Amino acid sequence: MLAQQGFSAPHWFEQAARHYIDGHQACPWCYSRHCVFLHERNGKIEYHCSCCDFLVCKIERTGACFWIPGAEEELV
Ligand SMILES: [Zn+2]
Repeated sequence: MLAQQGFSAPHWFEQAARHYIDGHQACPWCYSRHCVFLHERNGKIEYHCSCCDFLVCKIERTGACFWIPGAEEELV
């Protein structure tokens, strides 16, 4: 799992967007389905996983991304 933290924020944003559409609101971190919520507000696009608290955010105007890793352990 630690190796995943080497990925960049834009990479995670892309993954989150893809999983959200292709995986039925799936999380690119914990792979749970129907747990990722998309928020668009204040010029930001944000994907947040309610299972592991993975978060990735993109500022639309600048294209800057940042992200927060999800929990390491699997939540049952
Ligand atoms: Zn997750």
